[in-house]
Amino acid sequence: MRMQALVIRERILGPAHPDTSYYIRYRGAVYADSGKFERCIELWNYALDMQQSMLEPLNTMTQSSLFSFIELFSFMVAGADPTCKDNDGNTALHLTAISYPWRTDLATILLCGGAHLDTVNNDGHTYESLLDDKIRFMTLNPIKYTTLMCLAARAIRKNNNYIDINRVPVHLRDFVLQH
Ligand SMILES: [Zn+2]
Repeated sequence: MRMQALVIRERILGPAHPDTSYYIRYRGAVYADSGKFERCIELWNYALDMQQSMLEPLNTMTQSSLFSFIELFSFMVAGADPTCKDNDGNTALHLTAISYPWRTDLATILLCGGAHLDTVNNDGHTYESLLDDKIRFMTLNPIKYTTLMCLAARAIRKNNNYIDINRVPVHLRDFVLQH
């Protein structure tokens, strides 16, 4: 019944109308609140695809959808071990990239424990850029550890000429700045 209302709204208002994606996202949030994350992600992905096909890149509505994704995923992984950094902003994973001999097993353990391949250190280097060896990097199966949450944060950082970090909700800023 509620899904039908969403479909009817989309048909009448059209996919470009802000109310259309607003109500799809709202319905998704209701699912997330009741623990039905898969259903929520499905609906939000649908709204995001719709926005990306109808609106110019990084339109404020699309940005707002990306923020919602980060928020949802942060909530889902709450409780995971935080990744500590040294004074140079290096995580343990960064250090495995520059240590000799190179240890795949160590990197894999850190990744499974919640380390990010795309965390940047104070010089803006990621694990990949420090490792500087595409073949070794690919043996880690990086896609497995690449999340939508990371991609959204990277997109925001990559476009930092156009997106002011102050527009990112306060509780998400640290996460975005890690990328
Ligand atoms: Zn990440």
